[in-house]
Amino acid sequence: MNTREMFAKAIKGGYAIPAFNFNNMEQLQAIIKASAETKSPVILQVSKGARNYANQTLLRYMAQGAVEYAKELGWEHPQICLHLDHGDSFELCKSCVDFGFSSVMIDASHLPYEENIALTKKVVDYAHQYDVTVEAELGVLAGVEDEVSSAVSHYTKPEEVVDFATRTGCDSLAISIGTSHGAYKFTPEQCTRDPKTGKLVPPPLAFDVLDAIMEQLPGFPIVLHGSSSVPQEYVDMINQYGGKLPDAVGIPEEQLRKASKSAVCKINIDSDSRLAFTAAVRKVFAEKPGEFDPRKYCGPARDLMEELYKHKIINVLGSDGKAE
Ligand SMILES: [Zn+2]
Repeated sequence: MNTREMFAKAIKGGYAIPAFNFNNMEQLQAIIKASAETKSPVILQVSKGARNYANQTLLRYMAQGAVEYAKELGWEHPQICLHLDHGDSFELCKSCVDFGFSSVMIDASHLPYEENIALTKKVVDYAHQYDVTVEAELGVLAGVEDEVSSAVSHYTKPEEVVDFATRTGCDSLAISIGTSHGAYKFTPEQCTRDPKTGKLVPPPLAFDVLDAIMEQLPGFPIVLHGSSSVPQEYVDMINQYGGKLPDAVGIPEEQLRKASKSAVCKINIDSDSRLAFTAAVRKVFAEKPGEFDPRKYCGPARDLMEELYKHKIINVLGSDGKAE
């Protein structure tokens, strides 16, 4: 399904839809099991990097298989959207629309304003013919995500959003209010340090900017990218078992919970599941150096990701039970 109805219900209900990226079978299984068990609507996201890694054809049929798998798990009416994350050209978005995706993002946020509008509108005009919803972006997020990267962030300008949404016809808008891509969202200089634990405390999200945007566009679906919280338990586990992730820091979950209750109706989470996967694999490798069956370390990684996804659905996004 596309995102239209999902988002309308999420805004009314004060929760957000999880948008989880997937690149492999274990990740997809974990996402579907967590969503089926909690009866949460879910957006399966495919990035350009994922297409390069796993092949677009394979990913598309995996997603289709995921719908059947969800039914097998006892989820009678699965609400699953297949979404292109960070489409960077009309051709890429068109190819995903033609290929059966139910939603695409065109990220032209790095272009000058008028060019962003022109490209977004072109994608919207094409996608809407096939009832495919379109996410656009205004403002620039800092951080690195696959091939998307920027050194600095520029908050979305609330005074631009009405003009942008009206002229492009986009269905949802990704904004920049201080979230950031990757597992190193903030430099130590941008943070303060908790005197007790020595851990970094990131700067708060700009809720004043979000409020101003919601005032301009009442009831319009807002999307947050770069919203992993970088759970310190996984970072610690990775470091304990031979990894090296000093000062990795994310967005505190309380802030995402607060955002979920507003017009923010899609929250992207990718890095957290990478961390869970890596933590579980490292643990097996450290504890059982003789193990060489990939199922014996990808299995525990899958279990840990499933636990993470369920936690996000229930405790952060509040989307559990919304797709009975
Ligand atoms: Zn993103």
